Amino acid sequence: MKSASHSAPATRGFKRVDLAYVELASSENARDINRDIVLEIIRSRQPVARADLARTSGLQPSTISAIVEQLIQEKWVKEGAIARRPRGRRPTLLSLNDELVILTADVRPNQAIVAVIDLNGRFLAREVVPLVSDPERAVGKIVQSMASMRAHHSDRSFEGIGISMPGRVDPESQRLLLAPNLKWDDYDIKAAIEENMQLQVELANAANACLLSELWSGKLDGVRDAVLVTVSEGIGAAILANGQILTSRSGLAGEFGHSPIDPAGPLCGCGQRGCWEVFASSNAALRYYAELSPKGRALNIHDLLRMAEEGDAKATAAVSRQASYIGRGLRLITAALSPEVILITGDLTTSWSRFGPIIQSELESRMLAGPAPRLGITNDGELSRLRGAAAVVLQRHSGYRRAASKASQKPRRTVNAHK
Ligand SMILES: [Zn+2]
Repeated sequence: MKSASHSAPATRGFKRVDLAYVELASSENARDINRDIVLEIIRSRQPVARADLARTSGLQPSTISAIVEQLIQEKWVKEGAIARRPRGRRPTLLSLNDELVILTADVRPNQAIVAVIDLNGRFLAREVVPLVSDPERAVGKIVQSMASMRAHHSDRSFEGIGISMPGRVDPESQRLLLAPNLKWDDYDIKAAIEENMQLQVELANAANACLLSELWSGKLDGVRDAVLVTVSEGIGAAILANGQILTSRSGLAGEFGHSPIDPAGPLCGCGQRGCWEVFASSNAALRYYAELSPKGRALNIHDLLRMAEEGDAKATAAVSRQASYIGRGLRLITAALSPEVILITGDLTTSWSRFGPIIQSELESRMLAGPAPRLGITNDGELSRLRGAAAVVLQRHSGYRRAASKASQKPRRTVNAHK
């Protein structure tokens, strides 16, 4: 008889394990994984009955019951309506508990957007907060906005705070490692906000937050390798490799924006000359416009894009040049990672029908081999950073061990804390 291994697809069979990083499958991390799976099925299929959870996950009904009871007790999940069934038992349906909410902020060099988002990604409040360059004062304004939102939603239970940062964050210390456009070096944002708000703070890179938001929305279902590029004051990128967001041990993976493409180019915020970002960011488009029209009046990228939409030739030329540089940089990303999909998010996507084709043709003009990645834009625009920041909190807090270690850190979400 022919051995099964000969006909099985290459991906089947033993998973290759890197013994340097192996973590034995203890009963605790098996429980963690099962819990994550159950929570994810509830999130994506809610409202859902326990029996359907068992069927979908393949876990034993008794395991499902135990996990669900715990998720209900911790207030991640709530029981709701009774399902209508033609006969037999009528099960109670489960959904995420949207009484539980997350405070989020999308921090940019000149402003932050502060918002309250529930577990289902719905926005309960949103406010733009203009920022000053001094980090202590800027964070003070963010905290003020957050405190007032919490007071307005005192009927909700606040799980934590997720913050999207225009830079890279050390995964261990949660300190900013690199944020050339922000210049908040050495300021401990997490500690400052935690002290003021008495809620745990999770920092995330903006591109990674957007990518997580896209994954949660289901837009990348079936895609294993993708790159998301944020185009704003700078250029950020997030990498999905083999179905996982790649951050690297240092947290610095994805800094394509600071790949040098012209040693004689303009000085970049990172200290080098001629990074991709100084040619392809929204700030680059404004610089091109200023060069073409020294007396022009494009105050910011939104003005410039509107002028292009209205047919201003110099504005169109400036953004076209930016788009062409974006496409050239995407060739570098394609050569390095060969993703199936590249998603662009940021200012320029509001004029995608005009400038998307320029990016596409630059990307496709010199492929090494094979088809070019599919190029697309994110749905949410600036909201995806906020949704992603909320998803980071949910992801980091909802696991069993994570929830347990968190509970021992400090009193939070004071439910049951004093009983
Ligand atoms: Zn740079």
